[in-house]
Amino acid sequence: LHGPYDNENIFAKILRGDMPCVKVYEDDIALAFMDVFPQADGHTLVIPKNVTARNFLEMPTEKLGPYMERVQKVAKAVERALGPDGIVLTQFNGEPAGQTVFHLHFHIIPRRRGHSVGT
Ligand code: 5GP
Repeated sequence: LHGPYDNENIFAKILRGDMPCVKVYEDDIALAFMDVFPQADGHTLVIPKNVTARNFLEMPTEKLGPYMERVQKVAKAVERALGPDGIVLTQFNGEPAGQTVFHLHFHIIPRRRGHSVGT
């Protein structure tokens, strides 16, 4: 679960502006953008800025509250914009748990009644 933060991970590149993304929200605390391989229409990722946290467990506790406020803010914006029937929040810690990009992120995945739910 723990290890060195890799400055070359994809989300670090996005934060530096070295990699493009479709931005949904940005302030001094967090950046939200569309997932490039969406599990559903509107699949959005929210990442904290100015931290080297690979996952939720490594996030400095004092930075967690402000970051989670942004996750809620973006989830509400997704709800307003798309009017889904439900919204899934997911967050994976460590490769065995399904994490593939090692900069903390929450997935916001809109769901519609009648659409099957993937992983
Ligand atoms: P994880 O499994 O680590 O929680 O999910 C990482 C997510 O990042 C995946 O849903 C994947 O589709 C997304 N992703 C990977 N590379 C890129 C990229 O270059 N741009 C964007 N916008 N999303 C990415």
